[in-house]
Amino acid sequence: MALYDRISTIKGIGAQRAEKLAALGIETVRDMLYYFPNSVEDRRITKKVTDLLDGEVACITAVVGAAPSVKRIRKGFAVYSVPLRDDTGVITATFYNNPYVMNNFRVGSYYNFYGRIEHKFGQKKIITPIYEAFGVNNVTNNIVPIYRTGAHITQKVMVATIKKCLEEAGDSIEDFMPKSLIEKYNLCRADYAIRNIHFPTDYDAYESARNRLAFEELFLLQLALKLNKANTRRAIVTPYEATDIDFLLAKLPFSLTNAQKRVIKEITGDLSFSTPMNRLVQGDVGSGKTVVALAAIYLTLINGYQAAFMAPTSILARQHYEDLAPILESLGYKTALLVGSMSKKEKNMVYEQLASGEIHLVIGTHALFQEGVNFKNLRLVVTDEQHRFGVKQRGALVAKGDNPHILVMTATPIPRTLALIIYGDLDISIIDELPPGREKVDTFCIGENIRERMYSFIRKEVSLKHKVYIVCPMVDENDELDLKSAVSYRDNLAESIFPDIKVGLVHGKMKDSEKDAVMNEFAFGDMDILVSTTVIEVGVNVPQATLMIIENAERFGLSQLHQLRGRVGRGKDKSYCILLPSTMDEDIKKRMGIMTKTNDGFVISQTDLQLRGPGEFFGTRQHGLPPLKISSLLDMETLKKSSEAVSELLKSDPTLSNDENTLLRKRAEAICSDIDEYMV
Ligand code: ADP
Ligand code: MG
Repeated sequence: MALYDRISTIKGIGAQRAEKLAALGIETVRDMLYYFPNSVEDRRITKKVTDLLDGEVACITAVVGAAPSVKRIRKGFAVYSVPLRDDTGVITATFYNNPYVMNNFRVGSYYNFYGRIEHKFGQKKIITPIYEAFGVNNVTNNIVPIYRTGAHITQKVMVATIKKCLEEAGDSIEDFMPKSLIEKYNLCRADYAIRNIHFPTDYDAYESARNRLAFEELFLLQLALKLNKANTRRAIVTPYEATDIDFLLAKLPFSLTNAQKRVIKEITGDLSFSTPMNRLVQGDVGSGKTVVALAAIYLTLINGYQAAFMAPTSILARQHYEDLAPILESLGYKTALLVGSMSKKEKNMVYEQLASGEIHLVIGTHALFQEGVNFKNLRLVVTDEQHRFGVKQRGALVAKGDNPHILVMTATPIPRTLALIIYGDLDISIIDELPPGREKVDTFCIGENIRERMYSFIRKEVSLKHKVYIVCPMVDENDELDLKSAVSYRDNLAESIFPDIKVGLVHGKMKDSEKDAVMNEFAFGDMDILVSTTVIEVGVNVPQATLMIIENAERFGLSQLHQLRGRVGRGKDKSYCILLPSTMDEDIKKRMGIMTKTNDGFVISQTDLQLRGPGEFFGTRQHGLPPLKISSLLDMETLKKSSEAVSELLKSDPTLSNDENTLLRKRAEAICSDIDEYMV
């Protein structure tokens, strides 16, 4: 038998079971062996019936004393009882609605049971126990693996199937990790690891198997990413000759912070080099990332090329357009906006002028990577708030240029080791300083009981000519009910609570043009309160806004709350954020506490990452990595070691062409294609 044989080739595993396994993604024997348990449970100690305590979960060995009986309590509910005894006492195994029980036991035979014990009216019961014939020891009397099941496969069948596969596998589980690495990092061998992750001889063996397999997983992932990268961008481009931004700086109403200067210098270095830039700029909300992008754009234009600036929402794209177009105009460059809501005629005009080179910079949304868009000489692609785009979306825009420079910006910083994995070969710059004069946004978490006082506070802020955001309880932008509640929330505010104040509403289901109209009225007109869903989360800049209220704050992740809070405190006036969770428990208290204590986006996103785990934090959508089976991107130590190991290996065999690395190359290539599949 070979590891890559289909699982149905194993005797005793029929088509039906194979189909159920396929639903769990298990098709080959190897898939099955790499279907790791979530945990293991120690069921090694078998108790005597007389020693069983009420409520405990225990393992017993007992003989079936008489045929099982059934009692029908009411329609559709039957209780099955199996009388058992050992040499110390009697006990009944109880099952519910499980007619198989009637045929599964032989009177006079010994079985092992594992389940919860109940004492009632002087009688002992073991409730819906797991059981197997004495001596089998698959799910009892052992350290037992606990699998994620489903698709009508029980733990018991899972265990039996894996056991069978392990038997059949014999010594065919080869080790693809190089010997030198196995020794250096003190790893156990593949065969040992696979056997002991499922059926450990003891806890030490289980731990050592886990370590090896987690190391292996992160090692392979990083190796695949490195190989991917080596295959992709090694193009040679013409370095920018003009690298001076003084003319641009002269047009800005402020001088740059030291952090901005440093990052712009790093970017300028990239651009005057002969390989394309691939840089991630991380900077907290309000740290001034836009002007850093502007510098890169300016350099691109003065060197005679075109640039594209992509933002996740039309509100944000328009805002960037309004900020940047006049500056570039005054320097002799033409900027255009391209968003989905524009008319066909308007779009065609932009398409034409982009192709001819008349437009130097285009700012837009998803509309930018659509088919009709062609450039004369696109040299720079900037993506703002990159986490809102999929890897492939960014790729589609990049493909419109001939190896353009890439600059991505994010306000959700993550640890460097992790960023390197997720963003592959991106270089990272950090803006770790806010523009001068920024005051901390005072943040409070309040309960329903002071809602009235909050309304007075809103009134006070509005009377000072300030603007107020209220993010309302809407989770799913597509949910009709949620939408209704947002609309009625706004109506209630407008009609009953603030009849004398103009209250607007903006949500994700509105047309772009409608959203823009509302945002404009809020930013420049007499609308003083804006009820909003999270469409305002990213980037929007209304400096007169000084109060941010977040209803149902517990529904948002910390990073999202921080982004929302970042919409205020952008002007000269003192700003506030009020969090109104609809329920309270220890976990919510902790998260709200972090928000009230710190304004530091780095601290907040690290905490968020720790609390939610990388899966939730990133969502597969934005990192484009296959899910991990046994390792965690938060396991910094293994991450670091395995990354070292990858570098070491590639130093000695950069293309994995040595014979001894053939297996390894195959594994890494398989993961490369997985990665492609997960990119969206
Ligand atoms: P973010 O990093 O969140 O994208 P922005 O680029 O939108 O931040 O900048 C936030 C605000 O700070 C803008 O109004 C911008 O004009 C202003 N700003 C940026 N850099 C500076 C600076 N060096 N000094 C003063 N204000 C600045
Ligand atoms: Mg921004």
